[in-house]
Amino acid sequence: MILEYHKIDYPESRWTRTPENFRNDLQRFYEKGYRLIRMDDFLENRIRVEKGRTPLILTFDDSSPGQLRFLSDEKGGYRVDPACAVGILESFHTVHPDFGLAATFFVLPAADPPNRLFNQPEYAQEKLRYLVRKGFEIGNHTYWHATLSKMSPEGVRRQFALAVKTIQEAVPGYLPKALALPMGIYPKDTTLLLKGSYEGVSYQHLGVMMVAGGPAVPPGNSSFNPLRIPRIQAVESEMNYWLRYFDNHPEERYTGN
Ligand SMILES: [Zn+2]
Repeated sequence: MILEYHKIDYPESRWTRTPENFRNDLQRFYEKGYRLIRMDDFLENRIRVEKGRTPLILTFDDSSPGQLRFLSDEKGGYRVDPACAVGILESFHTVHPDFGLAATFFVLPAADPPNRLFNQPEYAQEKLRYLVRKGFEIGNHTYWHATLSKMSPEGVRRQFALAVKTIQEAVPGYLPKALALPMGIYPKDTTLLLKGSYEGVSYQHLGVMMVAGGPAVPPGNSSFNPLRIPRIQAVESEMNYWLRYFDNHPEERYTGN
């Protein structure tokens, strides 16, 4: 399962999971034998989990404030808000180190606030560096959540490349491995999705995430399509459905051996 979160905030709604519910999700998946793996390990087909455990990937779209919030301290430094997604992931990992610590953040460098790089402009670059330093991943979600079907080929390449450029201004050389399509909408020319450049900035994606579709198959599987990688929206009903589904169909569940 590749879970797709949006806001971590209050109140709970279609696109918002509360911090408490998010922590409960982690607990639930942990108890059912799921373990976090990195998106790049999935895309490059290096999936490794302990015997009998099942890989799980977390993704967060739209760089909203509750995903990564810094609190300034008296000494002019900062600490991660324990109630934001990253803070919750880190404290859960401290208690359950075998769960793993991984997540991919599909950020928006030029969206209107509050979705522009987690909404604290003074920390925007440091947050991108923090994510990479802690082993999280940054994904491409276009420059400003563009509707790609309405753009020219050059416009599409520009959206991907400018996002990469902004990320690299904070983290030199960083190349996002995954692309999440805004609203799941494809450009007319899908050959632009994996590789291209605009004004000297190149992008190279190994996989394209959709906004729905159910559980994903790994790259070694014959039905794997890098342009159509399904995700599961992290809402109560969807997670209940799929957790129950794999309880009832253990033969379809990917487990380490
Ligand atoms: Zn989005």
